[in-house]
Amino acid sequence: MTARDKDCLFCKIIAGEIPSQNVYKDSEVIAFKDINPSAPVHIMIVPVKHIVSLASMSEKETPIVSKMTAAANKIAKDMGLAEKGYRLIINSGPDGGQVIQHLHMHLLGGRTLKWEQ
Ligand code: 5GP
Ligand code: ZN
Repeated sequence: MTARDKDCLFCKIIAGEIPSQNVYKDSEVIAFKDINPSAPVHIMIVPVKHIVSLASMSEKETPIVSKMTAAANKIAKDMGLAEKGYRLIINSGPDGGQVIQHLHMHLLGGRTLKWEQ
């Protein structure tokens, strides 16, 4: 049984209780379109297990970030972004701009991105 948080929006999406437009899924990682995209391609890449944030992760849990990155690279390639480029972002905590308290990576592409402070 995978650890989930009953009040977590992304856990509800993972369980299929809230609809999402999924673009990738394996036993440990799921990816779906962001509901409020900041770029022509904006995908959320999320561990199936409920992990609150980068900052809250145990060292034992960090390999999931590598799996999320591998999924992101595959999705980027499938969506034709590999050549022109794309950006991966993980926001952690209030100063990092993290709103959803379930670890996630943003995959952004399809336009030239500026560096936003
Ligand atoms: P954060 O600011 O926590 O790094 O990013 C959270 C992201 O989740 C935002 O880009 C936001 O648009 C997205 N999001 C919030 N609620 C939903 C939802 O119900 N469905 C989907 N697909 N994305 C969501
Ligand atoms: Zn969760």
